[in-house]
Amino acid sequence: MKAFAMLKIGEAGWIEKERPVCGPQDAICKPLAVAICTSDIHTVYEGGVGERFNMVLGHECCAEVVEVGELVKDFKPGDKVLVPAITPDWNSLEAQAGYSMHSNGMLAGWKFSNHKDGVFGEYFHVNDPDGNLALLPEGMSYEDACMLSDMVPTGFHAVEQADVQFGDTVLVIGIGPVGLMAVAGANLRGASRIIVVGTRSVCVEAAKGYGATDFISYKDGSISEQVMKLTDGKGVDRVCIAGGTVATFEEAVKALKPGGKIGNVNYLGKGEFITIPRVEWGAGMGHKVISGGLMPGGRLRMEKLGALIASGKLDVSPLSTHVFHGWEHIPEGLEMMRNKADNLIKPVIILD
Ligand code: NDP
Ligand code: ZN
Repeated sequence: MKAFAMLKIGEAGWIEKERPVCGPQDAICKPLAVAICTSDIHTVYEGGVGERFNMVLGHECCAEVVEVGELVKDFKPGDKVLVPAITPDWNSLEAQAGYSMHSNGMLAGWKFSNHKDGVFGEYFHVNDPDGNLALLPEGMSYEDACMLSDMVPTGFHAVEQADVQFGDTVLVIGIGPVGLMAVAGANLRGASRIIVVGTRSVCVEAAKGYGATDFISYKDGSISEQVMKLTDGKGVDRVCIAGGTVATFEEAVKALKPGGKIGNVNYLGKGEFITIPRVEWGAGMGHKVISGGLMPGGRLRMEKLGALIASGKLDVSPLSTHVFHGWEHIPEGLEMMRNKADNLIKPVIILD
């Protein structure tokens, strides 16, 4: 089969590969549409997960099932499905402990384009389809379905980790597609004020639509100082981080009220250490919680978040700013994500 792969750190291209084999509890799917992710950029160009050779890229798609193993109960060839970027081993002890994304090792639930080939191939392999796939909701577009693989569950996971409550003032750092979904999630959870950090005009406009109330730029100086100015020196109740660098945590801690929580989903592709400012962390006693997590993945989350879109409570259509038709556009999409133009949120490629 043909596939678009990471050839080595710094290089991506087309390769020929064996079609994956279906075990008794697996499925083989073919992608119907794929989306390119900022994480693909961290992986290929920053070596974020380490060296990989000829590894098929991609973890965002919707797909059609072409083959299932004899132990698979709920899916059959021909089913159109939502595919989460994270496909845990649901019988692992880590999953039983509530950390499915770390099933059988830290971040090991993230298999596509990390521990095995991803979804930018004519066929791809899914472990435990009963636990990981969900049927494509009736009438949902392929573009919207692709946003369910990663953008919606990851942005929402920032909100879950920050534990946003009714009436909270929330700071969302980074308003690319992940941060935009954090804004939407914080809004759904009842935040009263949502301060966002980001500059690309298309993202700023989309953030307004998702419920952002205040806008600041990391290019205009310290984020925390700007937040303090906006909040009369009080700071915010919660911070969701979906952009920036290792240095962003310092700003988040400074902008946070005592007792507040920081939920990070940003993939830190570079930098050795994160420093925590001692004084603003209450000299170690400020009850400021810092959590960083890969999204949990799995079928239940796909079904619930899919229902949120199907019910009209969440509109993800503004995220797919660039829609292409045909496999040949995958390299172009990757380049677009690398160079993020002012009008880009997400490129989606329909494989018709
Ligand atoms: P984007 O690059 O589209 O968005 C990044 C945002 O951060 C933009 O709004 C950008 O602003 C802003 N930003 C850039 N530099 C800074 C800075 N120094 N300080 C503050 N804000 C800054 O990324 P995505 O939304 O696609 O993804 C966000 C992150 O989430 C990525 O690192 C991605 O790899 C990660 N991710 C994590 C997952 C998980 O499960 N944990 C899954 C999927 C993605 P500007 O408008 O100026 O560009
Ligand atoms: Zn992704």
